[in-house]
Amino acid sequence: MVDFSQDETQLQIISTAREFGREVLQPAEIELDKIGEPDAVFESELFWNTLGQAFELGFHKMGLAENFGGLGLDPSTTGMVWEELGRYGSGFAATLLPGAAVLQLIALFAPGNRELVDRYVLPYAEDTTGRQISAWGSSEPNVGSDGSNYNDLSVRHHTSAVKKGDRYIINGTKSNFISNGGIANVYLVFACTDPSKGLCGSGAFVIPADAPGVSKGGAMDRIGLRTLNQAPVFFEDVEIPDDYMIFPPGDDYPALHNAIITVGNLGVGYMAVGLMRAAYEEALEYSKVRVQWGKPIFEHQLITKKFFDTLTAIESARALLWKASWLCKTRFPGDLKMSLMAKIYATSQAVRHTSEMVQVLAGYGISKEYTLEKYARDAKLLPVMDGTNETLMLKAAQHL
Ligand SMILES: Cc1cc2nc3c(=O)[nH]c(=O)nc-3n(C[C@H](O)[C@H](O)[C@H](O)COP(=O)(O)OP(=O)(O)OC[C@H]3O[C@@H](n4cnc5c(N)ncnc54)[C@H](O)[C@@H]3O)c2cc1C
Repeated sequence: MVDFSQDETQLQIISTAREFGREVLQPAEIELDKIGEPDAVFESELFWNTLGQAFELGFHKMGLAENFGGLGLDPSTTGMVWEELGRYGSGFAATLLPGAAVLQLIALFAPGNRELVDRYVLPYAEDTTGRQISAWGSSEPNVGSDGSNYNDLSVRHHTSAVKKGDRYIINGTKSNFISNGGIANVYLVFACTDPSKGLCGSGAFVIPADAPGVSKGGAMDRIGLRTLNQAPVFFEDVEIPDDYMIFPPGDDYPALHNAIITVGNLGVGYMAVGLMRAAYEEALEYSKVRVQWGKPIFEHQLITKKFFDTLTAIESARALLWKASWLCKTRFPGDLKMSLMAKIYATSQAVRHTSEMVQVLAGYGISKEYTLEKYARDAKLLPVMDGTNETLMLKAAQHL
């Protein structure tokens, strides 16, 4: 029953991702990481050329169903690719990961809405330039971890959706943390129609970025994943057709939110494994040539132990993720507890072990001459992404 072998399709796509990662993603990611002004990254030709090449290879549509022009790959296969993309370009992986969110949810919940499918899903699947990008927004300035606080009726999204004839009027602000917030052409926004119902008063609305009344803030300045655009999005009297609400408010809201968390966090976990691998592989290579006290530092036992521990963490995190992905494949959207266990373990180990690998290089580890310090900075964001590890752990523990 347990089989760790990879099939032909998986081996082929992993090899494509690895080659693209080494030759295109990594050099771009390192150069863009050094740009001080966050918005300058997203104005650069290098950012868009690199993203365009990822689209050309189809990495943006791996999970999208084939009847919508996607590759229809299963969660285990896409996970293996996220690991590779995370290994060579974690910021770009973090851009691609939520970039398909709106399209996949339209395909899932509103497959018969021809207008949305023709306007967004099909052009996304056909895009080879990297310009069709989506973002999803739950977080607001005062709704962070509270996005999972379903039972307290005083907690709700302050972004509102009011029905007027056959339209909805949207008003509100989504927080600085919205991935792709400043570069997306379409949003999936959680907005409240009935404040008396707490978060269950929220529905999910597709909002075109070019609709009158939509505006975006500047890119957030952060310690890591600097090629991921995160920006606030503002809605002022934005009118959308009522069938742009693809998930209605009601008691199913927690199920929808938990399903997004169950699937989305797998990608974050795989990125964490990729980052640990990046740090491990580069530190290992360095440790075999750096000589101190008469021998390569790899041969000092305390350094050898660091490598053994990091490799153990990589293998364990990957094994948990493979099981969680298998559950997602066999019983969509998978098992919340297993997905969160895998994400929490992988991301917390990534913070710890990227830092340990910096320590292997010591003074050179903290120097910008090497990329080790970048991996540690990037890893630090992952225990917050798609829900903080603390609140995800409490959520998962309810299912013990
Ligand atoms: C890289 C990245 C990408 C993101 N992308 C998106 C996106 O695309 N869309 C989106 O909507 N959001 C996104 N987010 C937001 C993210 O999902 C988190 O929900 C949000 O950042 C957490 O809110 P906060 O930062 O305001 O922390 P707070 O909610 O203020 O939490 C602060 C601290 O308190 C702890 N805490 C809070 N409540 C509890 C509790 N009940 N028990 C124990 N501890 C608790 C938290 O764990 C945390 O350590 C992203 C975040 C990051 C870092």
